[in-house]
Amino acid sequence: MLPTPLRRTKIICTIGPSCWDQKTLYSLADNGMNVARLNFSHGDLSLHQKVIAMIRAYNDSHPLNVAMMLDTKGAEIRSGDVKEPIQISKDEEIIFTSRKKPDETRKVVEVGYDKFAKDVLETGVILLDNGELSFDIVRVDKNGEVTARAREDGKIGSRRHINLPGADLDMPSITEKDWKDIEFGARENLDFLALSFIREEDEVHAVRKLLRKLNSKSQIVSKIETRNAVENIASIIDASDAIMVARGDLGAEVPFERLPLIQDEIVCRCKDAGKPVIIATHMLESMCVHPIPTRAEVMDTSHAVATGADTSMLSGETASGGRPLEALRAMDKIERAMEAHMAKLETVYEIRFKSKEEEEMNVAVSLAEKCNIDAFVVITESGKTARYISKFRPKVPIIALTPNAAVQRSLLLCYGIYPIVVPFESSDDDTMSAGIELSKNIGLLQKDQRAILLKNKAKSPKVITI
Ligand code: ATP
Ligand code: MG
Ligand code: MG
Repeated sequence: MLPTPLRRTKIICTIGPSCWDQKTLYSLADNGMNVARLNFSHGDLSLHQKVIAMIRAYNDSHPLNVAMMLDTKGAEIRSGDVKEPIQISKDEEIIFTSRKKPDETRKVVEVGYDKFAKDVLETGVILLDNGELSFDIVRVDKNGEVTARAREDGKIGSRRHINLPGADLDMPSITEKDWKDIEFGARENLDFLALSFIREEDEVHAVRKLLRKLNSKSQIVSKIETRNAVENIASIIDASDAIMVARGDLGAEVPFERLPLIQDEIVCRCKDAGKPVIIATHMLESMCVHPIPTRAEVMDTSHAVATGADTSMLSGETASGGRPLEALRAMDKIERAMEAHMAKLETVYEIRFKSKEEEEMNVAVSLAEKCNIDAFVVITESGKTARYISKFRPKVPIIALTPNAAVQRSLLLCYGIYPIVVPFESSDDDTMSAGIELSKNIGLLQKDQRAILLKNKAKSPKVITI
């Protein structure tokens, strides 16, 4: 049974070794995972395909579907695979190189990027794992070996992130591998394609062009994690279907004290544009190893809700941590508590409407505030009407009835929307009755609740008691 009141902020879970057995995956779905994220920086294709098949099977027998997001590897630098983590002591000098093991007697980190030695000259520091470990650069040899001195103790496992803060990497944001993966995602009809490390709108347009050619309905999520993307944020939002504030790499690219301002500004801009915005990375990181989140993590997750972000994301917490289900449950609890608190406040978001349709839905949301309504039920073929309502952040869920399963899943990133597939009957009234019946059966609506109904063409809202 769904916990009530229904959570309005959406949750993405990253799928990895800790949760990709069918039992754990399905309990994540049963416990409120809205979107499953497949990170193509890791894992081989056959493992991702297994996950895709399991989620499809789940969706076939559950009216509340889980959407899928393919996250590209992007123009990133990672260390190579190691059998055992390399132990590093403070002040130790080690080698970074793109060549295969040049000298067995020294500690060597292989980097999967052949222009590493050139680009390293544009920065003074090498960061590992978004800054967990950092190295001062001592010298760069002609043979491409970079000698660097550790600033602290630590260890380097397989495929760890490497950042060169401030350096403009000499590789395209969307690599050859990414193009292949994007095409795979489009052909598999995955709902969302998240583009890593993009820098400008033209890259989004290029992906859009490919999707059109393939006749794909996949939506493009631009991940904001480079300085250039922050500078070009307005045009990137414009070109994209949704935005992810990818705080891990972003926090290594910009001074970390700027993260809160950048996040809040992006959330504001996305709400204004009516595009879903995802807050990602480290939300409940400590739960990878601890049973309860830190107080700071609780506050951070609540902050995302308080500012009206559409979606929050779990990364290592579900992919590789020890307690995937507990992490999801904790996020769900934190968000529902904050939403309940905010529902009691008088505050109404100041969000501008930009079209006649948006103005109508703004009026409907104000009506809901005044009339003590429990839910919206809206018939929406393309999903637009539901999105217009979501934009104004009502304090109650929006049940969206659509005949199309792809449209249903495309709405799963949007604040407050519970999309379900209901075949369109000969009249809107019949469709609405069927939708209300199904909503009651799956726990989206309860007897005696009051709902605002919005039909397909006639947009004048009607209030009924269920
Ligand atoms: P990104 O910057 O793209 O988020 P990441 O390395 O931080 O990369 P996450 O998606 O945040 O990766 O997942 C956290 C960790 O879970 C990864 O570092 C990896 O160890 C593990 N993981 C995630 N997906 C997979 C996968 N498909 N196969 C194996 N391990 C995975
Ligand atoms: Mg990535
Ligand atoms: Mg991550």
